[in-house]
Amino acid sequence: MNPNDVNKKIGIITKVSGPLIVAKNMADVHMFDVVKVSEKKLIGEIIELRGDLASIQVYEETAGIGPGEPVYLTGEALSVELAPGLIEGIFDGIQRPLDVIAEKEGDRIPLGIDVPKLDREKKWTFKKLVNVGDMLSGGDIIGEVVETNAVLHKVMLPPNVNGEIVSINEGSFTITDVIAKLKISKDNIIDITMLQKWPVRKGRPYKNKLSPDQPMVTGQRVIDTLFPIAIGGVAAIPGPFGSGKTVVQHQLAKWADADIIIYVGCGERGNEMTDVLNEFPELKDAKTGESLMKRTVLIANTSNMPVAAREASIYTGITIAEYYRDMGYKVAIMADSTSRWAEALREMSGRLEEMPGEEGYPAYLSSRLAEFYERAGSVSCLGTKTRTGAITAIGAVSPPGGDTSEPVSQGTLRIVKVYWGLSANLAYQRHFPAIDWLTSYSLYEEDLKIYFDNDIEKGWSNQVVEVKKILQEESSLGEIVRLVGVDSLDYKDRLTLECARSIREDYLHQNAFDDIDTYTSLHKQYLMMKSILHWYHLGQKALKNNVAFNDIMKMSIIEPIGRLKYVSEDKINDVVKKIIDDIEMEYQQLEGGLSNG
Ligand code: ADP
Ligand code: MG
Repeated sequence: MNPNDVNKKIGIITKVSGPLIVAKNMADVHMFDVVKVSEKKLIGEIIELRGDLASIQVYEETAGIGPGEPVYLTGEALSVELAPGLIEGIFDGIQRPLDVIAEKEGDRIPLGIDVPKLDREKKWTFKKLVNVGDMLSGGDIIGEVVETNAVLHKVMLPPNVNGEIVSINEGSFTITDVIAKLKISKDNIIDITMLQKWPVRKGRPYKNKLSPDQPMVTGQRVIDTLFPIAIGGVAAIPGPFGSGKTVVQHQLAKWADADIIIYVGCGERGNEMTDVLNEFPELKDAKTGESLMKRTVLIANTSNMPVAAREASIYTGITIAEYYRDMGYKVAIMADSTSRWAEALREMSGRLEEMPGEEGYPAYLSSRLAEFYERAGSVSCLGTKTRTGAITAIGAVSPPGGDTSEPVSQGTLRIVKVYWGLSANLAYQRHFPAIDWLTSYSLYEEDLKIYFDNDIEKGWSNQVVEVKKILQEESSLGEIVRLVGVDSLDYKDRLTLECARSIREDYLHQNAFDDIDTYTSLHKQYLMMKSILHWYHLGQKALKNNVAFNDIMKMSIIEPIGRLKYVSEDKINDVVKKIIDDIEMEYQQLEGGLSNG
């Protein structure tokens, strides 16, 4: 910010309503410009303009501020800083570095505090990847920096510049040091630093979007098998309080096939964000065994922060995600929970005295949700060389009372392609993940079928179809059982019920806190499904050959099938091979016993 500007252009506060301030004399500003409010220099953003009146969303506590006080203009849109130093960072919704502030100031963020978003002093070792004379365009990678031992930061030209490299240096630099000079026209040479800025409410450009064709493997069986998400896909996890939204998000952060994790936490209960701040850095990276923070950016909104910062946080998060996508990385962004974000939107809308829509949310709730999710996707990145990057976005939704007919759930459902609906009932029965197989869906299933069948196992999608069919049958048979009892069913259907039980308990149920069960490779998922279905198929055949249903229920192979989830990946081939053999042998014995007797 140029201090001269600040002194020259001044608005006057006319009204203060919590986080919303109205000021006059504001004809020169633009929507989404940042302003500094009062002598305390509180950070605000223009969210509405009417003539020379501006409505300002203030990101800090406004108590004690009143009409007549000044508003200083910065002339800049609300932006994020993009450079090495993002990873491992813990920021608030407008990218103030909470960890740095806490070190300096303790738990409370002082009003109007002026700390740089990214460290200006730290030196990074820059290795160049282009040479003097190279003709480059926006997005091209000019060098790299080891950001953490899990992330190689690609230093790119900003999206909007093209030209010839006229100088480039290697060595130790801060993010604001000039590392290269770029000739963008005959007599215009610009400085290139590692630091870029980008307005949060505008998506970073790319060449074109690519259609999804690969799953983002999560190692969570109910997800990968029944409701897979594509790399670059969008998913929602709606569920009532305590149904496991946060555990699912953490599991995805830990295990999903993503290079970079952006985790946006919007605290649900009083101290839940403090939990996130304490717990998340404790999570171990499955790939490296080190802290997951080594490839994570954490954005946290604690409940003692003004609501406005929450509103901005998901855009701050997705802009950082886009930056790493542009480097060619697979990024996963999790927002937990978007309902808290929507409440912030509702509060600001109420203070703007806008016409309320359903349940008090503004009419633009869905379009704002869409603006977030639409920035996900797999893309061909800017630059002269071809590379692809992707953002997969997963938002938790916490509808009050678990009733998904409310506006945030409904608005989200219209946008996302995967719906992992958490059920209070399943959570109550301690069936985790409590993803309801009867109401959940993935619209990527068809797109991903080819990958699963060709790259994992030929029979993958046939098995999945059958598993789903058995679960459906269980649900419809359940009606009959409730009305007239299980004894009224024929044995064929009772065997189907048993198979469904095995699918639920031995397969879909997965303990996030068990060392082995916490992650299952696609190959192991296939073999587990195969074992259960093989037992079922031969069981149906045995029934036809007059084997007694009760004898099938007493088979000794049932127990080892149930324990498959605890068999480690390196032993799974041998164990399943033996199980398949044993299933066949035991059925032979049962059928043989009949013909002998
Ligand atoms: P929410 O975020 O929906 O309020 P949480 O994610 O905090 O719910 O989950 C509540 C509790 O449920 C957890 O503390 C944990 O005990 C249990 N739980 C949820 N998911 C799992 C899982 N996959 N494996 C084991 N326990 C789980
Ligand atoms: Mg939660």
